[in-house]
Amino acid sequence: MSKVNLASDAGSIASASLKLPIYLDNHATTPVDPRVLEAMLPYYTSHFGNAASRSHQFGWQAEQAVEKARDQVAKLIGASLKEIIFTSGATEGDNLAIKGVAQAHRERGDHIITATTEHKAVLDTCRRLEKTGFRVTYLPVASDGLIDLDDLSRAVDDKAILVTIMYANNETGVLQPIAEIGRICHERSTVFHSDAVQAIGKVPVNVQDDNVDVMSITAHKVYGPKGVGALYVRRKNPRVQLVAQIDGGGHEHGMRSGTLNVAGIVGLGEACEIAMKEMAEESKRLSYLRDRLKKKLEDGLDGTRINGNMQHRLPGNLNMSFAAVDGESLLMGINDIAVSSGAACTSASMEPSYVLKALGVSDEDAQSSIRFGVGRFNTEAEVDYVADKVINTVKKLRELSPACEAARARAELT
Ligand code: PLP
Repeated sequence: MSKVNLASDAGSIASASLKLPIYLDNHATTPVDPRVLEAMLPYYTSHFGNAASRSHQFGWQAEQAVEKARDQVAKLIGASLKEIIFTSGATEGDNLAIKGVAQAHRERGDHIITATTEHKAVLDTCRRLEKTGFRVTYLPVASDGLIDLDDLSRAVDDKAILVTIMYANNETGVLQPIAEIGRICHERSTVFHSDAVQAIGKVPVNVQDDNVDVMSITAHKVYGPKGVGALYVRRKNPRVQLVAQIDGGGHEHGMRSGTLNVAGIVGLGEACEIAMKEMAEESKRLSYLRDRLKKKLEDGLDGTRINGNMQHRLPGNLNMSFAAVDGESLLMGINDIAVSSGAACTSASMEPSYVLKALGVSDEDAQSSIRFGVGRFNTEAEVDYVADKVINTVKKLRELSPACEAARARAELT
């Protein structure tokens, strides 16, 4: 079967005005919103000052811009200004949060609790801490992707110094019960960190209501630039202690040294302000588009399976397996659509996604799964094109598959 055949079949469905390829991978990254870019540009040219320069106007101007952005970020999550530390993104934020809290509380205990479906930025950081003598509990998730709060309660023992559970999963979009997790942690005086990268600007996040003590954010998942993020660190009730991981000029209250990425920070701030104003409307539109895609795919195909809880989920996320198709061939067949596959999410190899496997999804279903991430700039016409293209491609692949008979039987059972 050639890609050309698959493409031309679906080509007839595409409206002439549709611009290909279609980007439907908004969990991986988002385009910079033109309004964000506009706010950033002067900070590369006329306002290029170093925010740490105290002796002239260039520095003051940059510092003012950074403080405005700090306010914009803080407002989006219900934090105060001094609780926002700018970072290079969420990988750094997760490292600083987890290593920083663990090291600061080493005297009190050695136990860290996380979940098997966390992002590698959290899991690999925990693994490294294990090598230096910390104990880590990896909580399992149920088949819908949610952790069990009783499991968590049991795990939080006297030696538990940190719980780190993500707000929303980057593959399935599943939203964990963050406020309850935070409550359990606070009852035991255990610090609660949440990687909220995927949730920020998509669902309401409030560090007070959610009982979160430390929270990682990155700009590039919320229509801001890459390479900039923020870490929220609670300053009262309780005041969280962190050991800095980067030493130097003592920027960001000594918690993260290094010259600030002023333009990037301005972009993050602007992105947060836009999200704050538009989130309610936007999330309605995204869930409408996501549900439309889901319905079309389910109506058009047998043997589809939704991965992860549908109620507790990000508005723009759809993670679906297509029984009896090879994931790689499916991706090749829809190569004018940018999506992620459960076969390739974590590495260059075609290993099935560890996140889906943690939900009990078979290797086969994980391999044939697609993560659709609908975002701010997607249209209904794009979603319709994607649905038609996926349906046609899956049907064609099933017809061509040598294992067709057995597979079809399985698809009918699913
Ligand atoms: N955490 C989650 C849940 C993510 O989805 C990502 C991005 O892939 C990261 C952390 C890493 O963020 P960054 O790209 O800012 O380092």
